[in-house]
Amino acid sequence: MSDKAELIFALIVGLCGISSLLYFAHACFYALFMNIREKIRGLSSKLVPCNVCGHEVSKTAIICPSCGESFGRDNTSSIAESMFAMFVLGVFTSALAVYLIIVMFEPAQELYLLFTSK
Ligand SMILES: [Zn+2]
Repeated sequence: MSDKAELIFALIVGLCGISSLLYFAHACFYALFMNIREKIRGLSSKLVPCNVCGHEVSKTAIICPSCGESFGRDNTSSIAESMFAMFVLGVFTSALAVYLIIVMFEPAQELYLLFTSK
């Protein structure tokens, strides 16, 4: 394997890694944003209609007080926990992607020199 082919292969693998990391980071921040929006909405309207009987039920209710339908909600702390996890994951993957870009700068430069020195 020539130096050139090796460098191209390394760059392709690196670019794939970086793009998937950036995609993952984007998904994390998107989930975080959706959670925050949901929380703000939840604060502005505390009552939602029950999807079984239609009675107004508190957003944090686990079961409907009038028909007994279970909403399968835990509590708000799990949302806060997942928001924190999403934030940490998003920041971590972004940092990793930036690190990979810095690491890949050198082989990219080498490759550029290989192609231009002919
Ligand atoms: Zn109900």
